[in-house]
Amino acid sequence: MKGAMKALRLHKTTQKIVDGLKLETVPIPEIGPRDVLIDIKATGLCGSDIHFIDGSSILPKFPTILGHETAGIICEVGSEVKDYKVGDRVCANFATPCGKCYQCLTGRPSICPNRSMIGVTDDGAYAEYVKTASSALIRLPDNIPFDQGAAATDAVATPFHMISKRSGMKPGDTVAVFGLGGLGIHAVEIARMYGAGMIIGVDVDDYICERAKKLFGADEVINSRKIDAVAEIKRITGDGVDISLEVVGVPESQLQAVNCLRPGGRALMGGLGAAPVAMPNTGIFVRREWEVLGCYAFENLEIEKVLKLASAGRLDLSKTVTSHIKLEDISVGLQDLHQKKGYPIRIVAVQD
Ligand SMILES: [Zn+2]
Ligand SMILES: [Zn+2]
Repeated sequence: MKGAMKALRLHKTTQKIVDGLKLETVPIPEIGPRDVLIDIKATGLCGSDIHFIDGSSILPKFPTILGHETAGIICEVGSEVKDYKVGDRVCANFATPCGKCYQCLTGRPSICPNRSMIGVTDDGAYAEYVKTASSALIRLPDNIPFDQGAAATDAVATPFHMISKRSGMKPGDTVAVFGLGGLGIHAVEIARMYGAGMIIGVDVDDYICERAKKLFGADEVINSRKIDAVAEIKRITGDGVDISLEVVGVPESQLQAVNCLRPGGRALMGGLGAAPVAMPNTGIFVRREWEVLGCYAFENLEIEKVLKLASAGRLDLSKTVTSHIKLEDISVGLQDLHQKKGYPIRIVAVQD
């Protein structure tokens, strides 16, 4: 499709988040034979983009259109694409694995080292249109709106991957979730769906803690700025939790996520950060046979499962999107997300 579109591009890193992206007119991407062009209807604003803007995550090239959780309608298909057509409602996995490397061939496509990623290695979805490989598409069920579909591709699929693929969670397990924002709140919901015996949410804000308890099903919540989270979790559970999920990516909460485990427990680190992962003293760690696992991204099938669960009413995404904004207002939205202004879970940019 020839023509021009509006897009938000990052030219260089800055600490002033609101100044990072420039609204520009750029050519509509040209698709290859296995690609599709999506007329974007909704794109979620993600904390990862704040890391790209402030430089704590490194973008491979500048300028790049950011935005990696998106849903829309296919408006052009490449000559070799047979399973999708113009008009299909879809969302996209931001990453396209190579399909050939060791990780891809052993069932770990989310950590394929050769993957291309919209909004990272390729231009993303803070734009009117985005090009993606057709292999990255997931069909959007008719009863799932675009905004929820967009959020499902990252904010929900990430904790789903942590729990379903990495945690080994079993019915009745006690679970602690550190960070109750966009990822953590869905970790609480999914842990509940998985049959967790008790879910303890930890955050540093009273409102966010209470929301996790009232709206998303956390059994207990702890404001770790006011209360020693590890001591409180041990008091509630007796000897610690079976599984902890850390989605903040800061050393202080990582250390709490490990120290709150019962002997033999498992901590999953899913929050991105710049500092080394914080760990307890070797003697304690070794004697308790604790496990600490990194968790990254998700697979197409996991997004598909999240959407099916939502479509069937088993996973409630109706409270996921806390505000809708326009493409032009994404920079302000990212700043609000950064400052937690209005306590966003997912801010989604929507277009007609
Ligand atoms: Zn993201
Ligand atoms: Zn690969």
